[in-house]
Amino acid sequence: MNYLWEITSALWRFIDQRDQLLIVSLHRINRPHGLPVSTVEKTLKFLADQYHFVLPEELQDKKIHEKMAMLTVDDGHMEIYSTLYPIIRSLKISMVVCLTTDFFLKNRWLWVDKIHWILEQPGSAQKIQAYVLPDNISFAGNQVYLRKYIKTLPLSLRDELINSLADHCRLTIPSEPAINFRPVKTTEVHNMLKSGRVELASHTVTHPILMNLPDKDLDFELQHSKKELENFSGRRIHSFCYPNGLPGDYDERTKLAVNRAGYSMAFSSSEGINYKGSTEWNQLKRIHIHRTLPTFKMSASGLTEVINRLKNN
Ligand SMILES: [Zn+2]
Repeated sequence: MNYLWEITSALWRFIDQRDQLLIVSLHRINRPHGLPVSTVEKTLKFLADQYHFVLPEELQDKKIHEKMAMLTVDDGHMEIYSTLYPIIRSLKISMVVCLTTDFFLKNRWLWVDKIHWILEQPGSAQKIQAYVLPDNISFAGNQVYLRKYIKTLPLSLRDELINSLADHCRLTIPSEPAINFRPVKTTEVHNMLKSGRVELASHTVTHPILMNLPDKDLDFELQHSKKELENFSGRRIHSFCYPNGLPGDYDERTKLAVNRAGYSMAFSSSEGINYKGSTEWNQLKRIHIHRTLPTFKMSASGLTEVINRLKNN
């Protein structure tokens, strides 16, 4: 079956000759919830053979031609250097590293990692079954629901809830990111920048859901992170990556703030391909590297979008 989809995807890729920018997104590799490194390697090898890789700096004229690809990796965890960078170098492709500056420069926890850490501790999965959310909803161990719920909370309530979750599991969250949740080192990022294969993008200061922020804090998250990364790298930061990035995590107000901060492009997590002539530069679509290569090839060829459109009509 997979073989059939692969052939159909390849055929569709051949038929669809529109100029396009395929932006691929990647989060963690090899963690309990991360992608296996073999999947990442195979997917990037496929892309390196089929596409011309570009960085935001090379796209300042916003001219998309033929089949361009851009690899973006979100948040800034340690395996970017130890695992991903050697693959990038051997395939001779480039990548955009989207950094949350408090995490990367100040070694402060990414708030969502605290939840992963709590849930990974021995016995937590069991204890958490009995946890009742403040609005009396028992999430019954549904982690997806928990993350969706927490995402909607104002910042102070969000942190309060995470601490109460830790208390409930009789855990003390370490003051700095635990061993598997550490950021890539600054010296490692300097090394990668020197290669010319890596460009940095801002992924805010503290990784909040932007819709929850008043204008003043929104501008701070967008503008201060840009300034911090420009000071760190000595280079212009051209692009921004929305935390979470799904429809509902950004809107017209946040898009205007992106323009105001001086970014020329912003990455969302809405799945799709950016075609010449219909590209929205402040909400670029991306395709996540999937667990199987045939599924990824189908999305990357544009076939998934076509099938979904047909289903909805
Ligand atoms: Zn993120």
